[in-house]
Amino acid sequence: MDLRDITQQVRSGGRIDREQALIMLQRMHLLDLGELAGEIRYARIPDRRVTFVVDTNPNYTNICNVDCIFCAFYRHKGDEGEYTWSVDHMIRSFRESADKGVTTILLQGGVNPELSFEYYLDLVKRTVAEVPQVMPHFFSTSEIIGMSEVSGLTIPAVLQKLWDAGQRTIPGGGAEILSDRVKKKISSKKGTSADWLNVMREAHRIGFKSTATMMYGHLETDEDIIEHLDVVRSLQDEHHGFTAFVPWSFKPGNTPLEKIIPHYATATRYYQILALSRIYLDNFDHIQASWFSEGKKAGQIALNFGADDFGGTLLEENVHAAAKFVNKTNTEECIGLIHGAGFDAAQRTTLYEVLKTYPQPEAVPA
Ligand code: SF4
Repeated sequence: MDLRDITQQVRSGGRIDREQALIMLQRMHLLDLGELAGEIRYARIPDRRVTFVVDTNPNYTNICNVDCIFCAFYRHKGDEGEYTWSVDHMIRSFRESADKGVTTILLQGGVNPELSFEYYLDLVKRTVAEVPQVMPHFFSTSEIIGMSEVSGLTIPAVLQKLWDAGQRTIPGGGAEILSDRVKKKISSKKGTSADWLNVMREAHRIGFKSTATMMYGHLETDEDIIEHLDVVRSLQDEHHGFTAFVPWSFKPGNTPLEKIIPHYATATRYYQILALSRIYLDNFDHIQASWFSEGKKAGQIALNFGADDFGGTLLEENVHAAAKFVNKTNTEECIGLIHGAGFDAAQRTTLYEVLKTYPQPEAVPA
């Protein structure tokens, strides 16, 4: 099958398979890929609106026993710089964030085996009760598997208790590349691709919404990327529990993997992956562009490659910072970046409900 047939199939609403996706990724001109992704984006979200969320990404502990070789954030118990914050401490910081207008707290930590399951439930319950302005968007699949191990409860039972405590959404971190060939090399203690999918499947079954992420730019091949897109698309067919897909590139600074992969993936690679994601994931409403992980200008350009969302303001972020990658913004700048790229901006919730719109300023007549 040639590229023209595949493109025609996409334009007429057909779903492409792995083999066709590989041909597109390897042979399609970047701008043609972007144009096609743009057509699909506007068919799904017809106006020139780009959403963003006012969020922050604090951490409650950096102690972790999973030892992923792409991670610069974690410490072992007793290492210099290790920490675990109390629930009181976290609630205080959530209140401060809420006072700054934050509506989503994306909270993750290491997988700390010394924390009891009660700690996590307390965090959720107290956030819901004491800081109702924010939505607790807490705990990656690795932490949820860790909760199952410390409590002796099954994954569905852990998720049900988090739900009963008031949690409704889960961040999509921890997926990296959903290919066991890659996972064995970069995160051998983290569990398999099926483990990540299983937590997400059980969560969606209960009613949670989550994002799906992908971290590329390390040891994966093109085939691994397409395998990732394929398993995520299949799971989305089951419960439609993913709100958005969020790809980002590996940041090597201070990680053990830096010795093998010392460089960042290119912006071109980012646009290719973003556009292919929009085309392949025909059952996803939102594809996120990341001003944060790819840089502000790259994030603006990404809005022309199928993305309709600009991610969050991330007022606090420590994981990429540990890898010597620091990027900051605020609500005003975020709106300005979206306008500058030629789009109307809209502040949204974790669940993509629009809170406030910021149309582009009127052009001044010459
Ligand atoms: S990525 Fe997460 S699970 Fe892996 S070492 Fe870092 S903190 Fe631990």
